[in-house]
Amino acid sequence: MRYYKCGEEKFEVRLTPFSFPCKLCKDKEALVEHPYQKIKVCENCYNLIFENKIKKTLSQYKMFGPDEKVGVFLSGGKDSSSLIYALKKLFPQTQLIGIHINLGIRYYSDTAENVVRKLTKQLKIPLYIYNLPEKEGYRIDDFVFTYFKDKICAVCGTIKRYLFSKISKELNLDVVATGHHLDDTVSTMLSLFFQGDFQSIARLAPVLPPLYPGQVKKIKPLYHTSEKELLYYTVINKLPVESCSCPHGEITPSKKQKKLLEELEKENRQIKYQLLSVFLKKFIPLLKTHPKYISKNEIENFKACKKCGEITTSEDLVCSRCKRIELIKNLKDKTLEVTTEQFLSYISSKPKDEWVILDVRSLEDYKKGHFSGAIWLDSKITENQERKIYKNLKSFKNKTIFLYCYTGALSYYLTLKLRKLNFKAFNIKDPEMLLSIKD
Ligand code: SF4
Repeated sequence: MRYYKCGEEKFEVRLTPFSFPCKLCKDKEALVEHPYQKIKVCENCYNLIFENKIKKTLSQYKMFGPDEKVGVFLSGGKDSSSLIYALKKLFPQTQLIGIHINLGIRYYSDTAENVVRKLTKQLKIPLYIYNLPEKEGYRIDDFVFTYFKDKICAVCGTIKRYLFSKISKELNLDVVATGHHLDDTVSTMLSLFFQGDFQSIARLAPVLPPLYPGQVKKIKPLYHTSEKELLYYTVINKLPVESCSCPHGEITPSKKQKKLLEELEKENRQIKYQLLSVFLKKFIPLLKTHPKYISKNEIENFKACKKCGEITTSEDLVCSRCKRIELIKNLKDKTLEVTTEQFLSYISSKPKDEWVILDVRSLEDYKKGHFSGAIWLDSKITENQERKIYKNLKSFKNKTIFLYCYTGALSYYLTLKLRKLNFKAFNIKDPEMLLSIKD
């Protein structure tokens, strides 16, 4: 089974039963080798180990009480899906609510929303959906037209944090839980450490109490659970998860640290736990005693944003989310996709040397038939670094580029990449119609 996560990372897992019994119950056939304990166990015992760890984390940090209303932010990925599944199993009486933000990312967000709908229906958990394009009139994709085009994940994070806070208040939640796991925490810690941002390290705690009145407590029940453990849990329990990857996935500094950790893990499989322990038990307590990092004045620094009312530390009293939204409000044209009709009308009104059409399907299918004049483009180009893509396509720099594939998804992905490289590219959103046109 192949799973994708936020960004371009892919995971593949295959479960093949062993021909001997589970090491723990000695009853059922062993199905999986536990990634850290290195014992071969059956699916029931694997689930038991996994869920006990979450239970222990919840009680160790006193994350929520029996009468509290807990919101779980669901992205459609394996982390948050596993979290809500385990919470429902462990605490069937707790008032749980799933929350999903549809970010309006074409060929991605609607699939994620459907996955979340399926999961919450299966678990009989109420679901709250916040549709960004419908509620606020913009999409995360629109930021390719701004100078944040190479930092879309950072903008997306700012917007999501604002919405987490707004939605939690609207739903009157006591606690919000997110699917941040051990690998996320340790890689972010390392990345912040290398950047010298020690203040942010101190905030990577498993529980973030409200900093000001009205803010909701945030918890990370998967704080001690590794990504590999989560992956097996998702596969064993056949959880519905997003099967395509976000077209904006970037190689962020923390993703680079994640790769480094994976390499270190080959030598020492406890490395992530050891690093977390050093940070939690030694480094963060030490930081908290340093006058520069003591956060006692933090509350006084918070003011309400004069546009949205959310808390900000910005001196001009406009929070970073509002500043970013202002940029797209002023955009006159945010077109990234055209219909076949729009495309045909454009090419019939413009000289041939002003535009080019790229076919991103397989070479075999291109040879069988393609839109008149289309040039075949190897879709593997998307795997190249941006500099290389630019070099390959720079002869089209002054032309309007139209792209199509089978479904619109791959050509859209490439359209975004080309836009980030300042090409004037458009995706054709109904390629089937285009391909049905005969010469
Ligand atoms: Fe995740 Fe970045 Fe896509 Fe937002 S834009 S969903 S942070 S990969």
